[in-house]
Amino acid sequence: MIYDLSRAERQHRAIANEKPGPVLQSKRCACGKAAPAKVLVQHKKCHGCLLADRVTTLHDGDLDILRHMLGATPYYPMVRWGSRNEYLVNRRDAAALKRLVAAGFARAGRTLLQLQYFHATEVGCRLTGLTAKRARVALEVAP
Ligand SMILES: [Zn+2]
Repeated sequence: MIYDLSRAERQHRAIANEKPGPVLQSKRCACGKAAPAKVLVQHKKCHGCLLADRVTTLHDGDLDILRHMLGATPYYPMVRWGSRNEYLVNRRDAAALKRLVAAGFARAGRTLLQLQYFHATEVGCRLTGLTAKRARVALEVAP
C-alpha cells in the first residue's frame, strides 16, 4: 500500500515536471481551414479569410456591378457568364468601381469621352461565381 502511494506520487510529479513539447507550427487558420504555413506566416490568415476581408471593403451593390460587368446575372444562362467583361462607369458608380479596384476585383481599362471602362480581374470573376473556364473566357474578351 505504501509502495503504491509513493509510486502514484512519483507519477504525479513526473507529469507535473514534464516539459511541454516543442510547439508545432500551426497549419490551420483561425477559421479552422488548413493553409500553407508560408501563407499563414506572411498573412496570419488563409486565402479564404484574406478574400473575405477584401469583400468586406465593398458596399451593397458593388458586387451587382461586378456581376453586370461580366454578364453574370440570372438574366443569362450560367454557361454564358463571362461572355463580356467590360463596364463603362458613370458618375454614380465611380465610388463603387474605386472600391472594386482597391479590393483587386476589377481594373481600369481605356477611356471613352472622359468615361472609363472597367474589367473584372480573375479573382473578381471567381467571386461572382464564374467557373475557372468561364473566367478564362472573361479575361480573354477583356481588352
Ligand atoms: Zn481562414
